[in-house]
Formats: sequence, C-alpha cells, structure tokens
Amino acid sequence: MSFVFVNGVLSGATDDPNRLIKDLIEDRREGKIPKEVNVRFRKDTDSVMINSDSGRLLRALIVVKNGKPLVTKEDVQLLSEGHVTWQDLIDKGKIEYLDADEEELAYTALTEEELTPSHTHLEITPLSVFGTQASLLPFINHSNAHRNVTAVKSVQQGVGVYSTNYLIRHDNESMIAIDQQFPIVKTEMYENENFKSHLSGQNIVVAVLSYLGYNMDDAIIINKSSVERGLLRAMFFRPYKVEDLKYVGGQSDLITIPDKDVAGYRSEDSYKYLDEDAIAAINSHVNDGDVLIGRISPPRFVSSIDKFRLGVQKQVESSIECRTGESGIVENVFVTSTSEGNKYVSLKIRQDRPVEIGDIFGPRSGQKGVVGMLLNQEDMPFTYSGIVPDLIFSPYSIPSRMSMSYLLELIGGKVGALGGRHVDGTSFTGETEESLRQELMKYGFRENGVETMYNGITGEEMKVRIFVGDMTYIRLKHFVEYKIQWRARGPIQLLNRQPTEGKSKRGGLRLGEMEKDCFVAYGTALALKERFDSDKVTIPVCSKCGMVAVYNVKKKTGYCPIDGEDAQIKLIEVSASFKILLDELKSVGIYPKMVLGSKV
Ligand SMILES: [Zn+2]
Repeated sequence: MSFVFVNGVLSGATDDPNRLIKDLIEDRREGKIPKEVNVRFRKDTDSVMINSDSGRLLRALIVVKNGKPLVTKEDVQLLSEGHVTWQDLIDKGKIEYLDADEEELAYTALTEEELTPSHTHLEITPLSVFGTQASLLPFINHSNAHRNVTAVKSVQQGVGVYSTNYLIRHDNESMIAIDQQFPIVKTEMYENENFKSHLSGQNIVVAVLSYLGYNMDDAIIINKSSVERGLLRAMFFRPYKVEDLKYVGGQSDLITIPDKDVAGYRSEDSYKYLDEDAIAAINSHVNDGDVLIGRISPPRFVSSIDKFRLGVQKQVESSIECRTGESGIVENVFVTSTSEGNKYVSLKIRQDRPVEIGDIFGPRSGQKGVVGMLLNQEDMPFTYSGIVPDLIFSPYSIPSRMSMSYLLELIGGKVGALGGRHVDGTSFTGETEESLRQELMKYGFRENGVETMYNGITGEEMKVRIFVGDMTYIRLKHFVEYKIQWRARGPIQLLNRQPTEGKSKRGGLRLGEMEKDCFVAYGTALALKERFDSDKVTIPVCSKCGMVAVYNVKKKTGYCPIDGEDAQIKLIEVSASFKILLDELKSVGIYPKMVLGSKV
C-alpha cells in the first residue's frame, strides 16, 4: 500500500499508485481537474505526491502518445493563422505544464526526429532548455555550461537603456549607454521577446592575438581612436535627495545658504554654485566637495569628531555635497513636498563616462575582460585590407574556458558584416559552423576566419595569421571611475580614532593581518609602524598603581585619582583601541594594571 500526500500533507493511501497517477494525468488532460495539478510517484518512500500549491515553477511540453506528438503540423498552422489559441491546445490536452516533480516521470525528446514510442513528451523548441536570458546568447549549445552561466551573469550587468524616460527619472545610480546596436549574430529570442528595443552593446571588430603584453589573461586592448569616435560611451546619473526633517521641540532642517556663523561653515567657494533657493544651478559643472544643496540643521549629536569639537549650541551646517571622487553636470532638479509636509529636493548629476583603462567589457559568451590599454589607431595591428580592430582579445582565454560560442560568434559576425545580413545564432537550430565557413570563403576570405595582419608599430607582417572578425561586445556597469578609492589623510571615527570605513566617507583602506605579513616579509617595518600608528594616543599612567591618570596640560603636571599628587605620572603612547580595552575591562570590574618599564 502506498501513501498519498497532497501538498505535502498525508491525505490517504492507495493499493494501485500507478493507476491513481495515470487517472489523475488523464483527468487533467481532459480538463476535469486544474491543469496546474502535478503528480509524481516516489519509489524511495513508496508514496504518491500530488501538488497543487503556488510557487512551483511549471514548464510547458508537448504531449507525446505512441511516439507521435499530439500537436500536429495542422495545429501549428492554425495557431499561426490565429484560428487556434495556446489555451485551446492546453484545453485539448495537447500541451501540458509539468513541475519539477512530475518531470521525473517524463521522458522528453529535444526534437521530433528523436521521438521513440517510449517518449512521453516533446520540447516545444530545443531552445526552451535554456531560460529567457540564456536563449539570447548565440551558439551557446557549443559552449561549456558553466561558462554559459557566467555569460548570462555578465550580460545582466550590461549597460543599455533601462527606461526611455530616464531623463526625468531620479533612480539611484543609473547608467545609460549612448549608442546601442542590434547584434549581427542574433537569436530567435531577439525577435520573440522584442529585444530590438532593449539593446545593449555594439558590433565591433575583434582580433584574437597577444599584443605588447597589455592583454595578458583577461585584459583587453581597446583602440583609443574608437573610444574617441564614441565606442560604448555611457552616461552615469546620480540623484542627491534632501528632505527638510522636523524634530521634536518644533525644530527643523532648513534648505538655505548657510550664514558664516553656522557651525561647520565651509569656505565661500564651496557654495558658489548655489542659486538664491540654495540649490545648485542647472548645467553647473560641479566637482568633488562642492555643495549641491545648502542646508542647516538644529544642533544635535553628530558622530564625526570634527563636528563634535565645534560645540553643540549653534545651528549646524548639513549641506549636501558632491560625493568623494565624483563630478558632473547638474541635469535637473525636482522640488516638492513629502506626505508629512516636509520640503523635498532631488537634484540629479550627469556624468559622461567614456571608456578608460580598468573598465570592463564582455561579449555574450562569458569572456569579460578589463581594459588593459588604450592604444592609438596607428599603433594597433591592421589587416591586409586595412581593417584595424577595435578590440584585441587574448587567445589564451579560449582553451581553458572552452567557450566555443565566442569563436563561432566572431565568424558569424564577420559573415554577417560582409554579407550585410543578420546571422541566426540560435542554439541547436541556428546556422551551422560549416555554412558560415562556406559563406566566408565566398566573400574571398579564408574559411577559418584568419587573416594576415601587420604590426602597427613596426609595420612588420606577423608570423602567424590572426583570427579576426566582428562580434557584439557589451560594456558592463563596473566603471573604474566609480570604484577607484584613495586616501592620504582624512576623517577618523569618534570612538576608536581609526580612519572611517567606506569610500563614501573618505575612508581609509584596511591593512589587515595578511597585508601586515606582506609588509613584514618585505622588511618595511617603518611603513608598517606608520600604518598601525594611525590611532596613536598619549595617555598619562600612574607608575604606582598602573591605572590611567589625569594630566594637566597647562601646568604640565599629573596626578593619580588613587595615589594623589605624589605619584609619578608617565606619558605613554598606546593605540586608542587599547585605551578602549582598558576602559571596558574596568567597566566589568577587572583591574588592568600597566607595569611601566624603560625603553632603553
Ligand atoms: Zn596611582
């Protein structure tokens, strides 16, 4: 006897599980029970699992009986003419939805030719073994599955146009690619999903060779003249949002140009872009540290040590400034009020982002790389016919990754560019390698895509022929200008006097345990000491009881709260975090005694 579980709950038992399953499937195909109900027999626990709950991923398959698909050529014809709908095919039980559980019972053929009498289902198209995103990638049935996952991930990070009303939107950190092109090598999915209007990337000429050592590993060389002509140029937008908050006691923030007597007043120069409304004028070119929206706040506790030292009686300067390391042009400003009645200002900065060293480019085959060098066009290699590549890709990236789709797309793009047509790179059903080779030969090129190239610097002919073609490259959203971070001096934390953390707070770069080991290994002891001295404090210590004493800087004398004036007070250097440790030990009733000794 087998148990029957409905949505994971034990609901009954049956003597003939196979018949129960068969009847349920029959009933579903006849429309007697909802089409979302799925069923499966589990051998290991001898139970029938019936699922009808939400949240299961279902996929559509064509039902096969006696090796023949129930969806016939006539059905497809009627469907394309509009006489029959998708729903009709489901209602007739010709197409059904399976969840991951019921797929265990199914024996699915990829194509109609593969069908045998033992098959139960047929894929609607072989492409449907991939998801929507993966089916946008050309020729990926030739590539390693792991590489295809990487490819999907890098295509997701591509910069395109996420919304056509981006100019009036104030999304956080949005990026727009200025010029997109429809890929020469497309897939069926570009048509089906209307990706013609959601493009990212451009068709560029790519040569696969090692050149000058600037494209080692995953680095790529970009033609600087292509960049100057606008190759994959992008724009970056960042809104700065401010709300006039109201506090307990009737006080509130005020958007205004701060007076000189406000605590924390910056230089007059910092406010130069502000109009009378205390908001930076549209089209002003602002830089790192310039005030964008002037604001003052009532006195309150602030965490930065500098502001704390200023005292807490006066109104505090709390203007919004352009972020560290960023600059741009004020694009537009929205002034409105929130539902609580507070004034709300949002100001958007636009920044031009031409390609620079360190930016990341990726094709649709998971071979993304960092720009290692921008070379002038005259220094780039060129082919016999004078074609200069936009991008040079390292040949060493191919054998280990086994991304054959990269090579096929390169040849496909070359054929498409020469023939003035789009090449169908749909997986399983697209154009074959053989037909692309034949067509390339027709245009007077070598069928394997290689060409004689010349060194742009010396003019010498290269000893080997170079694989060169045309393919779609996408610029990824990781701009080096946004990520670069540095610091010499800067703000510190109030509690432990160590540098603040994070790029937005002008933070320091952490020198951890392993980095310390490197400094030690290289013998740079003084550099290491300088880094670890960043939170150095001088504290008075009583040499008798070993506790932190009190020191009067003006009189240059110290006294111990325990041992009085007579005790000998020594000034010693410790890290601020050690001082916190002493205080914490005392707070839990432990007596931390420092025993002082002479350094010499
Ligand atoms: Zn003492």
